[in-house]
Amino acid sequence: MTGSLEQVCRGELLRIEARGLVRRLLRFGTYADGWAELEGRQVLMLGSNDYLGLAGDRRIKALLAEAAGVWGAGATGSRLLSGDRGVHHDLERALANLKGTDDAVLFPSGYLANLGTIPALAGPGDVILSDELNHASIIDGCRLSRAAVIVYPHCDASALERLISTVRGGYRRCLIITDGVFSMDGDLAPLREICDIAERYDAWVMVDDAHGTAVLGENGGGSAEHLGVTGRVHIQMGTLSKALASQGGFIACSTCLAEFLRNRARTFMFGTALAPVMAAAGLAALGIARESPGLRRRLGENAQALRSGLRKLGYKVGEGVTPIIPLVVGDASLTVRLSGALLSLGVYAPAIRPPAVPEGSSRLRITACAAHRPEDIEFALAAFARAGHEVGML
Ligand SMILES: *Cc1c(COP(=O)(O)O)cnc(C)c1O
Repeated sequence: MTGSLEQVCRGELLRIEARGLVRRLLRFGTYADGWAELEGRQVLMLGSNDYLGLAGDRRIKALLAEAAGVWGAGATGSRLLSGDRGVHHDLERALANLKGTDDAVLFPSGYLANLGTIPALAGPGDVILSDELNHASIIDGCRLSRAAVIVYPHCDASALERLISTVRGGYRRCLIITDGVFSMDGDLAPLREICDIAERYDAWVMVDDAHGTAVLGENGGGSAEHLGVTGRVHIQMGTLSKALASQGGFIACSTCLAEFLRNRARTFMFGTALAPVMAAAGLAALGIARESPGLRRRLGENAQALRSGLRKLGYKVGEGVTPIIPLVVGDASLTVRLSGALLSLGVYAPAIRPPAVPEGSSRLRITACAAHRPEDIEFALAAFARAGHEVGML
């Protein structure tokens, strides 16, 4: 059925509303130390990706102001034209060092890193094997590539091997792509098994480590470092927008692949470069993260305290090594009610509903933050106890 643009949009919105899936913006004010201002009061932030608590860090704010004085607002063009600055190269070197690779290529965002890189590596006649819970930017990158895409069951290495052994002969290049840390479940991809399979079937491995970068691994190198496969993952994608509290995405890889991407990744070539001030902020955050292993330790402690505290209250929360804690409720409107009850008690834990997660698996996505103190965790758990009773879950 056609109609005016207004009618079409209104009709779609009503359908989304009827399923309890409409989304509204929450206008936060200032943010620091894991607390945010919302409608004139302070709420404990359990819903950001600022895992290390650096987004409100005073040192980074000061450096950002200084960088703005040097670089101004925008990059003025693509890296290949007028947009390239020394700070981009400094950050690329630091990221390669963090990831244990020879080189790295910056993109204006993590989304654009995936959108530019995947189609540069695979096209018609090639095949991509992609985990069913991979991030939207991977799904979109796969679609743009026009390669054959085979979605394999979540983290199921045996299913992946069965599929690849069946199809590999029919295609030229083969790329296996997975999130390192899954953004809505907080679990880790079986990277050792995936690398084994890739080596057996002549495939390349790409890992999206948006949530592992500066969080996992002895040196904060991410899920590949954590699982001991640094040299075996061909393409390590990451973002500066999460634990590194800034903006921008990157691919850490060999010198040759980096040079190739600078010549073939369309989102690198045809978009304005990452703003130099953001690169400076990312570089500052990276420096602080590397010099402060205590931040990663505190993040891990806070995540464990939240997990075990929630379990003690009677919530079903699984084990995990990442700061992402899914509290799966199932029903979308009950999830929204629980999130609302928490918010009125001063705790922000966002409701995640389809299409961000599969139908029937609506959840609170709770994230730990290194900036939270023990009394903040106690405050959170007291609110979870009360809110659970209020909505009839406990
Ligand atoms: C956030 C995220 C991205 C996109 O990164 P941005 O820098 O926010 O554009 C890509 N992949 C995963 C798994 C993510 O969680």
